[in-house]
Amino acid sequence: MLRYSFAAISLLSAINISFTEELLVQVLLIICFLASTGIAVIWPDPLPPPPPPDLWSKAPDSKEREMKICSNCGKAVDKKWSMCPYCSKKV
Ligand SMILES: [Zn+2]
Repeated sequence: MLRYSFAAISLLSAINISFTEELLVQVLLIICFLASTGIAVIWPDPLPPPPPPDLWSKAPDSKEREMKICSNCGKAVDKKWSMCPYCSKKV
């Protein structure tokens, strides 16, 4: 939106340059024209809107791994494991 405002300012100053007879006004209008045209060209576009919140799938409610309790130390270990990672005993 600001980019269009500056483009309009540069257009208006270009029109004013052709109308005015005063040298000082012409110089000022040329400066105004160059500045507003430059800003209109290099002004960055606004950031894109944030993605919708339902873009990502929800995390699963339950863990996929099934756990069992180590018979030696009592800590939860994976059901597929044959050895406890905490006490190095067979489960
Ligand atoms: Zn253990």
